[in-house]
Amino acid sequence: MDYELKKTYGKKIYKLSLNGGMTCPNRDGTLDTRGCIFCSEGGSGDFAVGFRTDITQQIEEAKQQVAAKLANPTDTEYIAYFQAYTNTYAPVEYLRSIFLEAINHPEVVILSIATRPDCISPEVLELLTELNSIKPVWIELGLQTIHDTSAEFIRRGYPLVVFEDCVRQLHENSIAILVHTILGLPKESKHDMLKTMEYISTLPIQGIKLQLLHILKGTDLGQLYEDGTLEEALSLDDYVDIVISCIEHLPPELVIHRITGDGPKNLLLAPLWSSNKKLVLNQIHHQMKERDTYQGKYYNS
Ligand code: SF4
Repeated sequence: MDYELKKTYGKKIYKLSLNGGMTCPNRDGTLDTRGCIFCSEGGSGDFAVGFRTDITQQIEEAKQQVAAKLANPTDTEYIAYFQAYTNTYAPVEYLRSIFLEAINHPEVVILSIATRPDCISPEVLELLTELNSIKPVWIELGLQTIHDTSAEFIRRGYPLVVFEDCVRQLHENSIAILVHTILGLPKESKHDMLKTMEYISTLPIQGIKLQLLHILKGTDLGQLYEDGTLEEALSLDDYVDIVISCIEHLPPELVIHRITGDGPKNLLLAPLWSSNKKLVLNQIHHQMKERDTYQGKYYNS
């Protein structure tokens, strides 16, 4: 992703994790009250700034967090990323107000919205198309897996056909699509994960995130792990092998936005090696060189 953004904008573009204050049909009782089995209380957005109705204030706060990590934080531009929960799960007028505020911020160059494919109504699609005419909009869809048994186990709450229909509609409206997948779901073999990659390779999408399954405290998955009823989490060696095989199965033009994951360390039960991101990335780089996997592909962590 970094490589592609540098090509387009001539510099690194930083992500600001924002909080739209929404919930999710998998949590509010519409589909379920328990959420996806792996989802933490933060709704998979544990790094977003706290919710305020004032989006500009959130942007300024998130900018400060980014600036604290930079040696020279000048002339910086950003992706406004609505990450936590389901960010199209609200009345369209509310969505319009927060997304317009974010996209019209002078230092924001891309609006990225994480959501579920069953939460993009025709009105929302119309809004996204309108926003996309102002600045690029990315829609990040949490697919996780194509396998029905796994989707049922994780309580994803929608069938594959809903995802396919959503991808078609977004594509017809020229909106960029990023698909989130999870590697290491219980009972999924390497072959199963590669089948998901093969399927994704057939879609008119622009990006993918390969996310290692994090088993977190306070989730139902974490409870199964603590009860000892869950099989062992992936080892680092297995993960490195699987993630590289996934990359090898994806078309070279598909931008890979993530190859590890950023689980909150204070909640992480397993796999504990994943908290050492540098180690994971180094191992992946090393193995990719050994296997000559690059083939013109570029990725970001
Ligand atoms: S759809 Fe997203 S926010 Fe909702 S429960 Fe699942 S992971 Fe959490």
